[in-house]
Amino acid sequence: MAQKQHLEYRGERGMRGPYPFDQDAIDEIAEDEYGVYLLTHEADDDDSVIVVYVGRGIIQDRLADHLDDEKKDALHFFYKPLNDEDDGFREECRLFHQYGKRRHLYNKIHPSVPKGSPRNHPRCSERGCKGEPD
Ligand SMILES: [Zn+2]
Repeated sequence: MAQKQHLEYRGERGMRGPYPFDQDAIDEIAEDEYGVYLLTHEADDDDSVIVVYVGRGIIQDRLADHLDDEKKDALHFFYKPLNDEDDGFREECRLFHQYGKRRHLYNKIHPSVPKGSPRNHPRCSERGCKGEPD
């Protein structure tokens, strides 16, 4: 896997973690808990926490999916429960931008607008971003 220059975790209000990125820890999360999450690793040169992936959805399901894919080299995860899909979208956009978008994250695409949103729903919560690839 091509090495990316991941950015350091800054601490996020309401974010729970770190938890070890394994099935036991994932099983501890409430089954239908919705929100955003971060997959993290440690920097090579020191032990600082670096963010490798940003996501949202039913947290337990999404994390279990990641255990099976290429993000499994993550060491820890963090998550933040949220009440609805618009909050989740806004928060995922913010984190996606904060941690360097596709340039610094393994995320391949910009966070998507929640399904069923009106046509004029903003494509991103961040000023100046229209949800475009970069
Ligand atoms: Zn954006």
